[in-house]
Amino acid sequence: MENKNYKLATKLIHAGVEPDPSTGAIMTPIYQTSTYVQAAPGDHKGYEYARTQNPTRTALQNALAAIENGKYGLCFGSGMAATDAVAKLLQPGDEVIVANDLYGGTYRIFTKVFANYGIKFHFIDMSNAENIRGYINEKTKMIWTETPTNPLLNIVDIAACGIIAKEHKLLLVVDNTFASPYLQNPLDQGADIVLHSATKYLGGHSDVVHGALIMNDAALEEKLRFIQNSCGAVPGPHDCWLVLRGIKTLHVRMQRHCENGEKIANYLRNHPKVGKVYWCGFEDHPNHDIAKKQMRGFGGMISFTLKSDSMDDAMHVLKNTQLFALAESLGGVESLIGHPASMTHGSIPREERIKNGLADSLIRLSVGIEDVDDLIADLAQAIG
Ligand SMILES: *Cc1c(COP(=O)(O)O)cnc(C)c1O
Repeated sequence: MENKNYKLATKLIHAGVEPDPSTGAIMTPIYQTSTYVQAAPGDHKGYEYARTQNPTRTALQNALAAIENGKYGLCFGSGMAATDAVAKLLQPGDEVIVANDLYGGTYRIFTKVFANYGIKFHFIDMSNAENIRGYINEKTKMIWTETPTNPLLNIVDIAACGIIAKEHKLLLVVDNTFASPYLQNPLDQGADIVLHSATKYLGGHSDVVHGALIMNDAALEEKLRFIQNSCGAVPGPHDCWLVLRGIKTLHVRMQRHCENGEKIANYLRNHPKVGKVYWCGFEDHPNHDIAKKQMRGFGGMISFTLKSDSMDDAMHVLKNTQLFALAESLGGVESLIGHPASMTHGSIPREERIKNGLADSLIRLSVGIEDVDDLIADLAQAIG
């Protein structure tokens, strides 16, 4: 599907997928093979060994590129494997400026793995992109951000980061997992690399772990493809197929995630026992204007505290929801509830966590696509 002018909903269904040349199968088959037969050495159909290329993966990579308005997509065995590949673009002595409110696993791989290789990470508040300038020096190579952030739903101005990155010839990496391509396309706003944990909204059904990178620059794609093949953190064809299947309904699911999210955010905000509600759709959210500028909706991720700010009360809510399942992860059709301080963000030291505004009693919701009245009733009985 070459025509780049198709709208997102059309690309989600068709991009990357061609009728299978051997049978005409409309859906890309799961090419469960490790190698490909050659007629003579070097005489092959573009596929030699499945770490390097696999047709199911190729279809997905092309689809992901199209839906992020990028030229190239690369798939990995997980979101963290995609993060790992990007960090391997760096060398000892290099410095990276990273948003301080980000996925716990990203914080962990930077501080516990890549810091050991002599790479320095500055974790800073990016709610004002201008803060980045104070940390740039001749060793800086990359700006790494996430928006909306996890779990505080802060918004980072991607275009403003892009301007600073261009000025100083830095790579801007945006983790777009929370928004998904349905809500925002960072490449259009100046990002060099978009990262996804496709485990979340792209897969959408809580049945696969998968990661992806999307970019426009051919030289950058070549370097990352070299790392993908050399390090080998590639996804299997069945997992690629699940993501390919998942993205076909991304727009339909996201529309409902957004509708349900808005209703639940407002419900929580009016609840007498609820303290602060974090959701970027509120007009008084500190960066709501930026959210409105760069996003097409506000999604179904919501965090909140209780007025009592008591750990016990938070535990009561976490243990008593019936539809909201207590689980890590997000972005699936089913609603999840989580406790960032002990779950997704358990790897961040408490002091660091509190300093960044992530309270012990914070509860995070991934609002699913069930009937919203049932979801609200479930929260009502759990909060009491
Ligand atoms: C889950 C997640 C990741 C890591 O992805 P995995 O697929 O779990 O390896 C990275 N960034 C964000 C924002 C995430 O939510």
